[in-house]
Amino acid sequence: MAIASKIQSCIESSSWIRRMFEEGARLREQFGAENVYDFTLGNPNVDPPEKFYTELRNIANAPAAGIHRYMSNAGYEESRAAVAAHLSEHASSEVKAAQVLMTCGASGALNVALKTMLNPGEEVIILTPHFVEYKFYIENHGGVPREVWTDRTTFQLDVQAIEDAISSNTRAIIINTPNNPTGVIYPAEALQALGEMVERKERELERQIYVISDEPYARIAYDGHVVPSIFRFVNNSLIVTSHSKDLALPGERIGYLAANPAMTHVDLFMEGAIFCNRTLGFVNAPALMQRIVAKLQSESVDIAAYREKRDLLYENLVGMGYSMVKPDGAFYLFPKSPLADDVAFVRAAQKHNLLLVPGAGFGAPGFFRVAYCVDIEMIRRSLPAWKALAIECGICGA
Ligand code: PLP
Repeated sequence: MAIASKIQSCIESSSWIRRMFEEGARLREQFGAENVYDFTLGNPNVDPPEKFYTELRNIANAPAAGIHRYMSNAGYEESRAAVAAHLSEHASSEVKAAQVLMTCGASGALNVALKTMLNPGEEVIILTPHFVEYKFYIENHGGVPREVWTDRTTFQLDVQAIEDAISSNTRAIIINTPNNPTGVIYPAEALQALGEMVERKERELERQIYVISDEPYARIAYDGHVVPSIFRFVNNSLIVTSHSKDLALPGERIGYLAANPAMTHVDLFMEGAIFCNRTLGFVNAPALMQRIVAKLQSESVDIAAYREKRDLLYENLVGMGYSMVKPDGAFYLFPKSPLADDVAFVRAAQKHNLLLVPGAGFGAPGFFRVAYCVDIEMIRRSLPAWKALAIECGICGA
């Protein structure tokens, strides 16, 4: 075999993603791009805020000596301090620059966190429906993913189910709020209940269990919702995040990991994380982006534009008979599949030139994901196709 058998089987099991893209390309070719409604990708179609370009120009117009050199593996002090100041606004105690590591996106931060904490065979609890890549990241570092469903009607935390899954082999729990794919935000009371349970289990099992809060959509929250800081509720907690979504910079690979100042052995954890950032081969987060995001900690893309898209799609789909939780944040809908088989439903949708992702891809068969970080005109143009599909599936009268 030319490549590792494990990678070969990963490629095979995710080949449906490739087939979906191929089908999308075929439909565009056949019907023209404007007649194909692609809701598959969480790739923001908006531009970064104007201030991003101002800061970029400022650096390009007056490049200081050494700005392209290696720096500390943890990142620039000014960037870490800016992030720490931003996080301190919501945390219960001051976050210091020493507790922040600049990373290559939230993906980089997750991999660094997992490599730092996992011994071979230790379990990491992930909450279904979950971001596709978590399993791969956990397995990258010898860990074992353990899936636990959120509440199947609200997609909120099921703290009892998480508690039932914790064993003397559990090292971490990953939560993601606002959630991809469901769009739910976990309220303060839910995080408090989670924190109390985890800290009780830590005492009982005499081991450190981390809660890793993956928050790249934290600033994309609607209707006055705010993502409460996990640092207020769980001492052994980490925030991993990025500016891929809130500043629309996914191609620039800039994010960070922050450890709760109250974490047991926090200095040792950060020392380990900085070492892992280096030895995973990231070395350091991109220098130019670190300098820019240091100046943009209070900025975000136009959230009102995302809300308008959510409202347009949510209200129309519900009116047609689709059923779903109204999302509080992020830019996804996760409706129930009108057909019991979500893969068959996604295939039926393709016949109407609607490209969607089956829930099975998130560990949640019976649902499907719609990414609405797309042009609003495409959403409007797609509505007749949604209606025809609803009629075909029998959830809507003609
Ligand atoms: N976590 C979640 C829940 C995501 O949806 C994504 C990207 O879509 C990531 C992490 C990775 O983001 P990044 O581009 O910051 O690596």
